[in-house]
Amino acid sequence: MESNRSASEHLSSPKAAYIHVPFCHSRCPYCSFTVVANRLDLVDRYVEAVTRELTALGRPNTVNTIFIGGGTPTLLPREPMLRLFEMIRQWLPLAGEGEWSIEANPQDVDRELCLLLRDQGINRISLGGQSFDSAKLKMLGRDHTGDQLASSIDIASQWFDQVSVDLIFGVPGEDMQVWMSDLQAATSRGISHVSTYGLTYEKGAQYWSQLQKGQLVAVAEEIELEMYLYAIETLTQHGMNHYEISNFAKPGRECLHNQTYWKGDAWLGFGPGAAAYVDGTRSVNHRSTLKYLQRMETGQSPVAESQTLDWPMRTRERFIFGMRQLKGVDWSSLSSSGEPKSVEAIAQQLPKHIALGFMEWKEGHIRLTPQGLPISDSLWLDYW
Ligand code: SF4
Repeated sequence: MESNRSASEHLSSPKAAYIHVPFCHSRCPYCSFTVVANRLDLVDRYVEAVTRELTALGRPNTVNTIFIGGGTPTLLPREPMLRLFEMIRQWLPLAGEGEWSIEANPQDVDRELCLLLRDQGINRISLGGQSFDSAKLKMLGRDHTGDQLASSIDIASQWFDQVSVDLIFGVPGEDMQVWMSDLQAATSRGISHVSTYGLTYEKGAQYWSQLQKGQLVAVAEEIELEMYLYAIETLTQHGMNHYEISNFAKPGRECLHNQTYWKGDAWLGFGPGAAAYVDGTRSVNHRSTLKYLQRMETGQSPVAESQTLDWPMRTRERFIFGMRQLKGVDWSSLSSSGEPKSVEAIAQQLPKHIALGFMEWKEGHIRLTPQGLPISDSLWLDYW
């Protein structure tokens, strides 16, 4: 009997691709992403390296979704940006009705950029807005103002049906009033999607060390919780579907690309620090942009780490990531294709969390309740 895969489990071929663009003007103090600040001198080498990675596919891989994230992809000068897009179209042709997203800095968004992106086939723009409040943006070290975010939304929504905005809450010094104004500003504009996150203090970020030294005071957990619940209430009242722990969308405007991750489907990844998940193996490219470039230029693999997930691990991940979706996990699908002992172990934990009011059954799906949503991270340990 095959131990690593069930007869009914289908390891999908990648239908999604992520391309990481590491360039930023400067590093924001809360950011620990793979980023190089003020190094546009590396752009040509970067485009060449990603081209090599794409060429290594051997033949074009048709995908349903492409996501160009960063970093700040819209910081790329036009000529190398167009070369990158051309390579992406050549090696990752987008299926009809496919979704092609790009992250954009509000400061970079103007009519000319929107026309260029649309002309290249991009049909979804995700603005790294974070806030409409200029003092909060300053605290976050962002280089745009609240007015610039508002105007970038107005411009982008003239050219794109799908405009998403990231909003951060729980920034030191922020109170409910500021957060309420942010949500009000977001809902009064032509946005189809909102991703909202509580500020986290990641090791490696300037904020993390400032917090350790007592130079920053984090917003109290109860206030953060109140902010999260207020976001759910406000955004859903304005016709947005709360479809994932941190994501809200107008009907039919959910981000298809991110659903790949939550469903446990395969995806390709390109660029420094990019992760990929293919044939049950998860891999991550070198996070250092220079190291990534050197490796690509000397014919070496860009991969820094990889791990092949066995069938039980895939089953548990499918459950945990799937539970991030508000609709939850389709139990008959998990139990028919998951590894039986893992499915049984998951099933044994459920009654406890249902009794505590954190999970519930709905139409054949097990899902988080409104009480379970804010504390969901603390539940998953029981399912590993
Ligand atoms: S938060 Fe965004 S803009 Fe700021 S450094 Fe990180 S990737 Fe760049």
